[in-house]
Amino acid sequence: MTFPIIAEPASGTDVLSLLHEVFGYSEFRGPQRAIVEHVCAGGDALVLMPTGGGKSLCYQVPAIARHRAGRGVTLVVSPLIALMHDQVGALEELGVHAAFLNSTLESDEARRIEQQLLAGRLVLLYAAPERILTPRFMAMLQSLHERGLFALLAIDEAHCVSQWGHDFREEYLGLSQLHERFPDVPRIALTATADAHTRADIVERLALQQARPFISSFDRPNICYAVVEKDNARAQLLRFLRDEHEGDAGIVYCQSRRRVEETAAWLVGEGIAALPYHAGLASDVRKRHQDRFLREDGLVMVATIAFGMGIDKPDVRFVAHLDLPKNIEGYYQETGRAGRDGAPANAWMAYGLADVVNQRRMIDESVAGEDFKHVQRGKLDALLALAEAHDCRRVRLLGYFGERSMPCGNCDNCLRPPATWDATEAARKMLSCIYRFRQHGGIGFGAGHLIDVLRGKHTDKTAQHGHERLSTFGIGVGLSEAQWRGVVRQLVALGHLRTEGEYHTLALNESARAVLKGDVPIVLREPREPPARAKSGKAARGRATDTGAAAPVLDAAAQARFQALKLWRAAVAREHNLPAYVVFHDATLAQMADRSPASLDELAGISGVGAKKLQAYGADLLQVMHGAAAP
Ligand code: ADP
Ligand code: ZN
Repeated sequence: MTFPIIAEPASGTDVLSLLHEVFGYSEFRGPQRAIVEHVCAGGDALVLMPTGGGKSLCYQVPAIARHRAGRGVTLVVSPLIALMHDQVGALEELGVHAAFLNSTLESDEARRIEQQLLAGRLVLLYAAPERILTPRFMAMLQSLHERGLFALLAIDEAHCVSQWGHDFREEYLGLSQLHERFPDVPRIALTATADAHTRADIVERLALQQARPFISSFDRPNICYAVVEKDNARAQLLRFLRDEHEGDAGIVYCQSRRRVEETAAWLVGEGIAALPYHAGLASDVRKRHQDRFLREDGLVMVATIAFGMGIDKPDVRFVAHLDLPKNIEGYYQETGRAGRDGAPANAWMAYGLADVVNQRRMIDESVAGEDFKHVQRGKLDALLALAEAHDCRRVRLLGYFGERSMPCGNCDNCLRPPATWDATEAARKMLSCIYRFRQHGGIGFGAGHLIDVLRGKHTDKTAQHGHERLSTFGIGVGLSEAQWRGVVRQLVALGHLRTEGEYHTLALNESARAVLKGDVPIVLREPREPPARAKSGKAARGRATDTGAAAPVLDAAAQARFQALKLWRAAVAREHNLPAYVVFHDATLAQMADRSPASLDELAGISGVGAKKLQAYGADLLQVMHGAAAP
């Protein structure tokens, strides 16, 4: 189907040549083109795309097209004040006149930007919702609107309007006013949060009932998912970093601020460049750490979930979870920060019984209402099923978001199908042992003691409580401790067992009855030996390059050009106070190094080289490559 490109006068620019001219890209990705054309033509759109899918282009291309057609400015609503500087910097590098208004600006700088806005010179303006809703700002919008210079409203991170996620921002609720005041201004709302509940909230609270939804596949095929059983989480993390990600940039998520601090300090002690980030740090420290992560190569950010929204660093090579996230939505959003450039990346998580216990307890002890807790428990169960799964992780992840898929070949379970064993009998033995404890002495015990009893191990405690006389003493000698730990974890994960009190004593839930009767088959994965883990990593790493998905293999001369280009890029980035990837992506530099273009024309053919960058940097680039190629 062909679409009337832009129904405005003085346009004539079709969006594909605009993409090529400004961004230097030869094609739109996935649904980008349909979205761009719909919005250029004045339609409203709701865009659901995974992180790294390419959401920004969906409003930036229409913004440029509409501005060229004399329609004025696109207002971009974003909650991410700390990132506006780099976002605007990236547009200016492309030759697109953009600015931001937020509390970090001096007042005369803000005045100057307001003047440019009112004069209709800006193509895009970024601002946080609290700023937009002030009377002063609304008056400026009114004035623009009266003169036909309010081209488009883009609402980024639109899920912030929903209370369901952890990103809820009260001020987002006020954004419906914009539509009431300026009903004819087209709107595009964008988010990477896919679940139906959040989506419904966005539609309702932003009055987007008439907007056309564009829902992309949520698959991120370049990310390899893996979950390992926790035994010594730190040692496991270190092995993962050393074996698979030496010198790479990545994020390690931890649950608490304390664990963030401790883990970061420990990694530094191990010689890994790591920084902490959590909401308890002073805001200037947070900002400094974030800036360093964005600007320097190969830093590891150890963080709580306070870190990451809107971080568009394309070359994050791994995301590791040292603790269990809250739910699959959170897990997917956090892991999605890896590999935005499309090159291979890893999502790695260590998971154990304590994680299950903690998460269950946090829900039980929260002050939320029963309905809310019920939903949270359901979400946790889905996450636990993913962690315990012995089939394709991606099939389960996508299935959770309502997408059907085939086994992926790029997750731990696909790459090395785990051996499984039938734990139905073992589970029965365990439950009956717990039952006997209560019968015998009226008190419960924790997992360690339980496993000792099942395996017939004589300890002070077994003697003291007379547990050596129980009929269940030693009925499980045939299984290893690791296998028994798996059984406890699984039974807690499935909700047949719960833990109580400060000693985490185990107690049966109602549903345990059916398991005791043997009515519920329980299949577990065999605990894995550590060496197998390292091997898979190497395999995944073998496909990884730091130069992009379709990155060429560089010979020695090209490698020399690549290194020279990177040095040149670092200098430019420093001079412009921007992250290096804003100047050019690794993949773009690698393609240049590979092809070694001899002229500006040839240089223009490389993906990621638009007109402005060609003009600004072309001559320098040719010189840098020429110099590096000489022996
Ligand atoms: P999102 O906001 O959806 O997470 P971005 O807009 O940051 O994703 O895009 C992710 C990366 O993909 C960016 O580095 C961007 O330059 C690149 N990209 C987006 N669209 C295209 C395209 N059509 N061709 C090539 N690269 C693209
Ligand atoms: Zn798979």
